[in-house]
Amino acid sequence: MAERLHAGEQTFHGIPVSAGVCRGKILVLDKPRHAVPPRQLSDAEVAGELERLENAFRQTRQQVLEVQRKVTENVGAEQGSIFDAHLLVLEDPVLIDGAVRLIREQKVNVEQAFQTVAESYTAALAKVDDEYLRERASDMRDVTARVLNNLLGRAEELDLRHLKETCIVIAHDLTPSKTALLDREHVLGFATDIGSRTSHTAIMARSLHIPAVVGLKNASEALKSGQFALLDGFNGVIIVNPTDQTLFEYGQLIRRHATLEEKLREVVGQPAVTLDNHRVSLLANVEQAGDAEAVRAAGAEGIGLFRTEYLFINRDAPPGEEEQFQAYRQAASALRPQPVIIRTLDLGGDKLLSSLAVPTELNPFLGWRAIRFCLQQVDIFRAQLRAILRASAEGNVKLMYPMISGLEELNQANALLSRCRDELRAENVPFNDRMEVGAMIETPSAALVANSLARRVQFFSLGTNDLIQYTLAVDRMNEKIAHLYEPTHPAILRLIKHTVDAAHAHQVRVSVCGEMAGDPVTVPLLVGLGVDELSAATSLIAQVKYLVRRMKISEARELAAFALDCESPSEIAARCQELVQRAAPSLFEM
Ligand code: PEP
Ligand code: MG
Repeated sequence: MAERLHAGEQTFHGIPVSAGVCRGKILVLDKPRHAVPPRQLSDAEVAGELERLENAFRQTRQQVLEVQRKVTENVGAEQGSIFDAHLLVLEDPVLIDGAVRLIREQKVNVEQAFQTVAESYTAALAKVDDEYLRERASDMRDVTARVLNNLLGRAEELDLRHLKETCIVIAHDLTPSKTALLDREHVLGFATDIGSRTSHTAIMARSLHIPAVVGLKNASEALKSGQFALLDGFNGVIIVNPTDQTLFEYGQLIRRHATLEEKLREVVGQPAVTLDNHRVSLLANVEQAGDAEAVRAAGAEGIGLFRTEYLFINRDAPPGEEEQFQAYRQAASALRPQPVIIRTLDLGGDKLLSSLAVPTELNPFLGWRAIRFCLQQVDIFRAQLRAILRASAEGNVKLMYPMISGLEELNQANALLSRCRDELRAENVPFNDRMEVGAMIETPSAALVANSLARRVQFFSLGTNDLIQYTLAVDRMNEKIAHLYEPTHPAILRLIKHTVDAAHAHQVRVSVCGEMAGDPVTVPLLVGLGVDELSAATSLIAQVKYLVRRMKISEARELAAFALDCESPSEIAARCQELVQRAAPSLFEM
């Protein structure tokens, strides 16, 4: 994977996901877990290894009981009882006796014995054609990983909130919840082995303005803490031990970037209007209420997507109605009269709650996610709907549902919302009775039934990150198939066009809040397809506006007409690139 070796300099190529250059010492976290090397025991060591096994089981049991206690207290007995299955694993004779036998008979070390038995048992369970047993496989994986960590004495995870020194964090993977915790003062940038442009970790990096590279395949294996490196979030590279020449070249790149930033600053206070006078609304995606100030500073006209799930992660219990109300109201009143579009909880996929013991799923992105989760966890959903309604009295709040896959879900969600309105009315709690409600269009099925959905909402927001993954059957997290994740695929463009036409036929506005809206290459295409509004990370707003102000709607429409008629994603992408390069060449100088 190291691409260039030059006087000790080593370059690793990945996928650029968050702009910026940084340099500093590397801190490698969370190496991928590999098989523990086997060790042959002497007869005298056997008893000691058996005792270590017993201790590791005892320690794990205590840990699981502690987690169960916390979950039961904070979330409820039902969720707490999920851990009963974990406790049962710790009493499973197949697991214990199997490991004991290997230690006694083959005289292998306890880590190796335990790992061998656990892996073959888990693999056998995962293959069984019985859903209940397959679920046990995931319990088994969780618990056995814990036992193995205890055997290996792996320390508790590093506290990413409080690092002592500045560093570039390298990890096999960083979950979105871990990314949200990064100590902004000390983390100069980060890089991961896996992931792609639209994984939530990448989205979070852009929000936090942290330079980042993902999809580096084996960087966390190859790099060592303490090495000096340069991370280039524009081009997606990490250079370890950069030479003076490289540092000099990067000095120039940083200067070019500073010049571009200056140009971009000039458009912050200007409207997003094309040269031939077509107005595009430009809003921002945020993850927390406190970002409202950054939204204004970026020159956005409000919040087009408030990802509320970040209020729910990294804590012991989900926030209640009052706490959520305070957060939503903070954003709404800070930006009033500009809109704040609050998306209801989109948990699942790569965003998991530490406070809710949601069972591991084989296909989390196709699983118990977003609106599906909320419609079954009515208490959590109801608290959020009430909080959003209450915040609507404090500013221009709009609400939207994620992952709608058909009319039934939209109707159910709207029915619950209507019940919440009735409750608040009966309690004399103020809210805006005309608060707009929208649906995200991020599944192909929603796009195809957009006509029906459009009759029941006031706006659509195209979640292209998911729309692409579900339409093309390409996992948005998987760097191995990132080349198949093509925003300019004709199937995507036709679904967008179909959605826009259905919406406009019912006077419903259409926004795009997926990453396509912040990528200059696809902006003219979206606008040409008739999208009314774009919503992107605050760090990307200025460049989108800069481009919109330098292009014509007439050429964007021509581009869209060409694209709708073209069969090749790469030809469409090349045309998009050509237009943007012509209109705003400075955006490509990095
Ligand atoms: C999307 O899918 O495009 C979207 C905006 O939602 P998220 O990235 O949070 O899934
Ligand atoms: Mg989505």
